Amino acid sequence: MNLSAAAVLLACPTCRDSLSLTEGALRCPNGHSYDIARQGYVNLLGGAEPPNADTSAMLDARARVHQAGVFEPVATVIGELCSGRLHVLEAGVGTGHYLAAALGTEPSAVGVGLDVSKAAARHCLRADRRIAAVVADVWKPLPVRDRAVDVVMSVFAPRNLPEFSRVLRPDGRFIAVTPRGGHLTGLRDAYGLLDIPIGKADQLSAAAGEFFDLIDTRVVKYRLPVSETLATDLIAMGPNAFHQVPTTVTASTINVDVTIQVFRPLP
Ligand SMILES: [Zn+2]
Repeated sequence: MNLSAAAVLLACPTCRDSLSLTEGALRCPNGHSYDIARQGYVNLLGGAEPPNADTSAMLDARARVHQAGVFEPVATVIGELCSGRLHVLEAGVGTGHYLAAALGTEPSAVGVGLDVSKAAARHCLRADRRIAAVVADVWKPLPVRDRAVDVVMSVFAPRNLPEFSRVLRPDGRFIAVTPRGGHLTGLRDAYGLLDIPIGKADQLSAAAGEFFDLIDTRVVKYRLPVSETLATDLIAMGPNAFHQVPTTVTASTINVDVTIQVFRPLP
């Protein structure tokens, strides 16, 4: 639980004022307070968890996929790009695997993991003790102070560009990981998975132009064999889990094919 270190980065979701951690709750000067859950996360959502929040089963599947190292080359590039950056926010943090990679080995680094799913918040707390887990909706104003963080990350997650730009320091970076057309082909073809729109990275850089300059683009692309169990987890960890996970999945070789874009805030 790292909320004591992260509190200075957070904002009251009701009045936008500062928050501090006292007596087991985050409190603002205007009397709003948010209890810390027994597990150590704070809920700043201000409402019920939406039906599209990632479920425990999806996050468990994703954690097994990460544990097996399927996306480790992606996490490694994220770690390199975030080197020397102390305050990292990930919007749609999931299990916290990429955020932990972004924090590298620096003991004083602080990660703020935002996710609308309480199950994600619980996973994050287990992923790395430097992560503060905050339940919040990425599509609403983020419960984060203006110009507070060095990096905003979005890995296969929704992008709230005006808010990302507001919370970044002037010398900060927005790092986005987007699937390319070849990502998880094989699995997608064999099991009719929800398709990934091609050209998403181009769409992002066009949309981001209002707030950011694109300064670096990396393509991370490789093939790897996955067991039947791992292939099932790859299907169960994403939005397909809301629809249908096939009952029989066979071992296969998958393609990982993603774009990592680095943006700098416009002056
Ligand atoms: Zn307040």
